Amino acid sequence: MQPTERLILGPKSRVSLLGSQAQDREIPTSLPITNVRTHPRVSDGKEDASIFFIGTATTVLEWGGFRILTDPNFLHAGDHVHLGPGVTSRRKTNPAVDLDKLPQMDCILLSHYHEDHFDQLVEDSLNRDFPIITTPHAKACLTSKSIPEPFRAIHDLDVFESILLEDPTSIHTDPTNGNSTTSVIRVTGMPGKHIPPGPLSVINDILSAVPPTNGWLLELGWITTNCDHHFDQNTDEELKTGYRIYISGDTLFVDELKEIPERLNGKRIDLMLVHLGGTTIPGPSAPLVMVTMDAKQGIQMIHLIDPDITIPIHFDDYDIFLSPLSDFKNEVEQEGLRERVVYLERGDQYRFTVQDSFHDGDQ
Ligand SMILES: [Zn+2]
Ligand SMILES: [Zn+2]
Repeated sequence: MQPTERLILGPKSRVSLLGSQAQDREIPTSLPITNVRTHPRVSDGKEDASIFFIGTATTVLEWGGFRILTDPNFLHAGDHVHLGPGVTSRRKTNPAVDLDKLPQMDCILLSHYHEDHFDQLVEDSLNRDFPIITTPHAKACLTSKSIPEPFRAIHDLDVFESILLEDPTSIHTDPTNGNSTTSVIRVTGMPGKHIPPGPLSVINDILSAVPPTNGWLLELGWITTNCDHHFDQNTDEELKTGYRIYISGDTLFVDELKEIPERLNGKRIDLMLVHLGGTTIPGPSAPLVMVTMDAKQGIQMIHLIDPDITIPIHFDDYDIFLSPLSDFKNEVEQEGLRERVVYLERGDQYRFTVQDSFHDGDQ
C-alpha cells in the first residue's frame, strides 16, 4: 500500500486563491453568513466547525485552521455553462458570495470537471499554484498544455485513495512525553457514477461527454506523533476521528455506492452533503437521461449511508435540475426523516462539533 500523501495547509501555508490579476484585491477575513443553523436535536452553542452554502455544490468547510472550498461555481443568474457535446444550461440563481469576495482558502475539493462545478470564470481566475484535490480525469484536463496556463498544484485521488491535510499551526505538544498532536483532515475518494450503467455508459465512454466523478469522505481529527517524529500514516489507530463528512458528488444511486458502508465497517457518517437535482440532459441519441439523484434516490442514499444529518445541495441552480427540493422535502416527511435533514439557503452556515474523543462505540 502506498503511503498516504500529505499536504501541509493551514493559515501559515496559504497561497493566494486568485491569480495575479486579483493580487490587489482586499481579502475579507470571514464569510458573509446570513443565517446560522445547528443540529436539529442537540446544540450546546459551542460548535467549532461549519459548512457554508454558496450555491450549486459550492460550499466552504471551516474547522480550526482549515478553510476548504468545494466545487467552485460562481456564475450568476442568466449565465450559461457547457456540460458536454450539445448540452448547455442556464444558471437560475446567484452565489451567496462572489469569487473575489472570498476570504483566504487552503485548498479546493473538486468532485469532477463539469462547468457547474468548476466554471470558466473560476478556471480563468484561479492562481495556478493554488492546491486542488480532484479526480485523475480532472487533473489531466487542468494540467493539459491545451489550456492557456496549466495548473501546477493538482493532487488526484482515485476511488478509495486518500490524502492527509495537515495544519502545522495546530500542533500541541504534551510536556509529559514529548508527543505532539496535529489537526488533520483525511480526504478519501468515494465512488460515484454520473451515467447509468449499460449502453449509455458505453457510448459515454466513447464520446467522453460526461466526466468521471468522485464523492468524498472527509475525516476531521487528530494525529499524534511520538517524539521521534514518526508515525505510520495509514492506520486508523493513529487518526483519531472526531467527525465524518460524506459528500456524494454528482452520482446516481448505483451499486458501486454499496461499497461505502462496507468500507466504513460500522463507522458513523455524521454529515452527508448529497447532490440532488435530478439533473437531466439530452443523451447522445436525444433521449432525456437523468445524471444526478432525484428525490427518491436521495432518500435511498440516506437509507444506505445512514448519516446522522443530511444536507441537500445542487438542487435548483440550473435549468436542467428537474427534481425540485420540494419533492425531496415531501419524501423526507413521508419517511419520517424530518429531524435528520437540515435545509440550507444560499448564505446559510451549518455549525457542528468535532468531538475531541472517540465517538462512543464506533471505533
Ligand atoms: Zn456533473
Ligand atoms: Zn452538477
